[in-house]
Amino acid sequence: MNRALVKKTIISERKVGESEVSVFIIIYLFFSSDREVNIKGKFRESYLLPALSIKPVLHPDSPIPREKLNPPTPSIYLESKRDAFSPVLLQFCTDAKNPVTVIRGLAGSLRLNLGLFSTKSLVEANGEHAVEVRTQVQQPADENWNTAGSAQTWPCESSRSHTTIAKYAQYQASSFQESLQVHIQTSTIFISDQKSIGKIIKFGTNIDLSDPKRWKPQLQELLKLPAFMRVSSTDNMLSHVGHTILGMNTVQLYMKVPGSRTPGHQENNNFSSVNINIGPGDCEWFAVHEHYWEAINDFCEKHGVDYLTGSWWPVLEDLYQANIPVYRFIQRPGDLVWINAGTVHWVQAVGWCNNIAWNVGPLNPYQYQLALERFEWNEVKKVKSIVPMIHVSWNVARTIKITDANTYKMIRHCLLQSMKHIQILRDQLTAAGKKISYQSRVKDEPAYYCNECDVEVFNLLFVTSENSSRKTYVVHCEDCARRRSPSMTGVVVLEQYRECALLMSDSLSLSLSLSLSLSLYLF
Ligand SMILES: [Zn+2]
Repeated sequence: MNRALVKKTIISERKVGESEVSVFIIIYLFFSSDREVNIKGKFRESYLLPALSIKPVLHPDSPIPREKLNPPTPSIYLESKRDAFSPVLLQFCTDAKNPVTVIRGLAGSLRLNLGLFSTKSLVEANGEHAVEVRTQVQQPADENWNTAGSAQTWPCESSRSHTTIAKYAQYQASSFQESLQVHIQTSTIFISDQKSIGKIIKFGTNIDLSDPKRWKPQLQELLKLPAFMRVSSTDNMLSHVGHTILGMNTVQLYMKVPGSRTPGHQENNNFSSVNINIGPGDCEWFAVHEHYWEAINDFCEKHGVDYLTGSWWPVLEDLYQANIPVYRFIQRPGDLVWINAGTVHWVQAVGWCNNIAWNVGPLNPYQYQLALERFEWNEVKKVKSIVPMIHVSWNVARTIKITDANTYKMIRHCLLQSMKHIQILRDQLTAAGKKISYQSRVKDEPAYYCNECDVEVFNLLFVTSENSSRKTYVVHCEDCARRRSPSMTGVVVLEQYRECALLMSDSLSLSLSLSLSLSLYLF
């Protein structure tokens, strides 16, 4: 049996308040290279432990009556600014049973100046800023016709091009003027334009508002939001990535005309999201609980469109037939939509409007579990996990005091699996006589992904030099490195952490240190 690897345990005390003393136990694990190798196979274990699952049980077995397939959307009307900062709001939004929450008039109760995101202000601020354009066919929100117009279907392709904020603003304004004239002629006043079908429209999407210098007043205004909704906060996992993930831990803007569609999707790695309608028009939302994502995935497969990377618009009747409840609601200007972890959703503009959105990762067991589940599913489907969950888990464990016992257990399990993976890999490399070079991480160094299969590569990097004169280095995962060269010739193995230091706190720390030494001993 291998000797225990825990070489040093430091117990330190820190005064937190007048009376409270927290005990922090730091466990340094030195990975020794001289251990006997007794594991031949590859590490293929999950980072999740099924016994720790905290998913809610929804409608076990019994069919849902038709009238209950359109449940009312969980909604909150804030009476005062104080309500917005109440812990009850966070609890409600992150409740695993609430796939989506609309917070009515949030902008009003917090006195947010949404005018800063109006088309006029945006043009004045940065008219030349880049806008991605989706060209789409305008259709009623609950319909999606095939190109022949003969039947409803799931795929909804749109072509992509680019423009600027100023040019899109012109298009948005002239589209509005045009419809006013049409309506004046028919002597009817409509705020929306949903009657027209088949018109070609342009949707201005993924406009990057990350630059703090360029968008200072806009970004500052969003600091008025409650902490858990902000772009950045301590308990937000995305604030512990250590680098920018555009549109996830930064703000994105959407500029719309009626009919602009955001096709069905779950957020990257099942993270939660915040979306504020700037107005003046409304948006219509459709949302389905995470519990049903596999059923929706099956529909996509049946229609030949990729669930994770393709564009699809669910046919509502298909969902009802499959006994899947759909939340459907209107988001008015100033309303904030909170998309809970893993919720499948799709959105269509009813009127002319702008929206701002970003992701958040509230540190709770439901969010953490779903993020890791999607991390593993992405690997199976060879889709990149935009959130490097192993890197984030280590960062979170090092920097946040985790008070929730379930979150703590899940993260601990993930880190143990991560260490086990590293141990096995290192042992195998050493046994094969492969040298491992230590190269510590620098500040703001991003997480790494395999150049071939897009899997996250943590701590042990398999590096090749693609062009020796220009010194371009490419990172691979173990599998892809071996595929290139079974003996790994020309592959340098870099290790980024000399030792994995874990910092945990309070009563939870004892169980951590015990099980850590135990599991390492059992290797
Ligand atoms: Zn790979």
